[in-house]
Amino acid sequence: MHISQDFDAGNIEVVSAARADDIQLRIRHDKDSEFYQWFYFRLSGVRDVPCTLKILNAAGAAYPAGFEDYRVVYSYDRQHWRRYPTTLEGGELRIEITPQQDAMYFAYFTPYSMERHADLVARSLQSPICNLTILGQSVDGQDIDLLRIAGPGDASGRKNCWLIARQHPGESMAQWWMEGALERLVDPFDEFSAALLQRCNFFVVPNMNPDGSRRGHLRTNAVGRNLNREWAAPSMEKSPEVYLVSEAMTHFGVDFFLDVHGDESLPYCFIAGVEGLAGWTAEDQAKLDFYKTRLAEINDDFQTEVGYPTKGPGEANLSMSTGFVGSRFGCLAMTLEMPFKDTTATPDPEFGWSGERSKALAHSCLEALAASL
Ligand SMILES: [Zn+2]
Repeated sequence: MHISQDFDAGNIEVVSAARADDIQLRIRHDKDSEFYQWFYFRLSGVRDVPCTLKILNAAGAAYPAGFEDYRVVYSYDRQHWRRYPTTLEGGELRIEITPQQDAMYFAYFTPYSMERHADLVARSLQSPICNLTILGQSVDGQDIDLLRIAGPGDASGRKNCWLIARQHPGESMAQWWMEGALERLVDPFDEFSAALLQRCNFFVVPNMNPDGSRRGHLRTNAVGRNLNREWAAPSMEKSPEVYLVSEAMTHFGVDFFLDVHGDESLPYCFIAGVEGLAGWTAEDQAKLDFYKTRLAEINDDFQTEVGYPTKGPGEANLSMSTGFVGSRFGCLAMTLEMPFKDTTATPDPEFGWSGERSKALAHSCLEALAASL
């Protein structure tokens, strides 16, 4: 038996793999951080052998409720990822399974590797309306990629719409969402996108946190910074990812902003606004409500009943991207959350919430944007 994690986005520590019925594992902390929850590893050499995998430190993870009623994501071919039930016993997450092939992969959610990110950027750039700006480098020296998509004709006078994802690198569904958004925006045969691109320029950061993504982190960058708490005062030393994107926003301007995330615990798709901004108006509320309501009408996986509690006036967190952008640019600024588990009203027993459903939700989000312009 062998367990490996030394690959793009891999994360697990082996405590003991002496017996197949007692495989003891721990999830590594994000570097220089207390956070952990993302895992991704390969189990091999136990074909047709009943195995019990135990993640010993599940109870101390960032969001332990995320492991309640949780079904792990697994794959044999790294293309198709299905769900398998787990149990929680004495603070351990247990997976009792008999592998049917020589190697099988387990992950917290369908992975989205940095190699796939490179593929996504390269494929998007095959479109003549998509341009790449490398804003600078992350702490580990990876490029921070900004894709700019502008339809033909005079681009001035169009709304500047910003989409960013994966500030929290373990929330890989956010980059599946990005894949869906980018594929649709650059599709030359999509009449909806062509019309939208006459009214909007898009500024897309498909991965805000390449270092955390490659390192297999849940929530932070290479030096332990939670990027979605850095927006009030980012630095090139500790949070260049946010510093560089924030500078680009100031340069180009922002008329619409969506920051894409995943939520470990809540089995719902929902949007959090910035109702707590000091200058929040009835008009701001109406714009937010319209977008959310329209999205719920377009896509059955999205709902408006359950989400984070709304903050009172002046309580908005300006160190978060939406608080910063809403305050600085006075535009509609929202956080989209998708579940790690599944959606309560529209469950999928085989796949749960998935990369494909994340991509479909991205298409719907673009349609809601078109409706709200
Ligand atoms: Zn997040």
